[in-house]
Amino acid sequence: MIKPPSHHRAGGFQNNYQDFEPKSLAEVLRWRWTAAREGRPRPPLAAIPVLPPELDFLHANARAGAAMQPCVTWIGHATVLAQLGGLNVLTDPMFSLRASPLSFLGPKREQPPGVTMAQMPRIDLVLVSHNHFDHLDEASVLALAAQPGGPPQFIVPLGLADWVRKRGIGSVVELDWWQGHAVQTRQGAAELVLVPAQHWSARGLTDRMRTLWGGFALFAPDCHLFFAGDTGYSRDFIDMRDRFAHRQGPAHGGGFDIALLPLGAYEPRWFMQAQHVNVDEAIRIHHDLGAKRSLGVHWGTFALSDEALDEPPRALTAALQRQGMAAQDFCTIAIGETLRLPTRLAGARG
Ligand code: ZN
Ligand code: ZN
Repeated sequence: MIKPPSHHRAGGFQNNYQDFEPKSLAEVLRWRWTAAREGRPRPPLAAIPVLPPELDFLHANARAGAAMQPCVTWIGHATVLAQLGGLNVLTDPMFSLRASPLSFLGPKREQPPGVTMAQMPRIDLVLVSHNHFDHLDEASVLALAAQPGGPPQFIVPLGLADWVRKRGIGSVVELDWWQGHAVQTRQGAAELVLVPAQHWSARGLTDRMRTLWGGFALFAPDCHLFFAGDTGYSRDFIDMRDRFAHRQGPAHGGGFDIALLPLGAYEPRWFMQAQHVNVDEAIRIHHDLGAKRSLGVHWGTFALSDEALDEPPRALTAALQRQGMAAQDFCTIAIGETLRLPTRLAGARG
């Protein structure tokens, strides 16, 4: 394994393998002007798949304690309700109409959340990957903090705990890359680790790279979950497989049972490649990690880039066929749909 250089820099952070170079205003304008001239993104060919949520199942499962059926439910974009270890875990909660600091301007939601905040079971743990507006949404964080039964535990990358505390929320832990946090599940102790991603951060004009970004590995007794956040392709995912071999080798039930990988906001490549994987790169991450199964998220919800909103699953199907992979190795599901996962607990159902 190549020892990655430190990601800590004066006043902020950088990627392990490829420094993020912000695009110039001229480049941003060139992208926007070209997209406008070419009429991109093209309108979707078909409606984005949406299913009514299985609320009875989700709530019964939330009450099942140690007997919970491990599963993931796609709320939309990078927001996933993961039920594992007897816990309700929410990734990058984003339930608002716009991914923007402004309520009247900025990328607008194309599909409502698959499960509304009011329909959610009580959330135990919230994983925030970074501070971009489509991943860290103030209204959603405040609504979670006010949920009946008390606020969830927020886990954020270095530098972001202040943002949470400033909103009156004390239950926040911030982690550096590779740093672990012990999580008490209803099946015993589990570990949550913040892992690197090749991306960047900024919420305003003066805070670029000041707070860290990343993904999460959650090793619950019944299910090992990986959530990438936003990322370009890098060697970081090979490093993860090496680092986690002691708990995911063949003697330990193999790799992640489910990897939530980004599958959208990748065109045009000259602009997006350093921050968002395309479908082929997402499949490479799936292989690098040694994931048993991956679910594509971060598509179909906000039009952030030049590919059509419904292109990622079509591109995924074609790429899987080219590579001779089974459709279930790396799938997409409908917004609101629940994907049930096998359990690691011997003798349990699933
Ligand atoms: Zn981002
Ligand atoms: Zn994003």
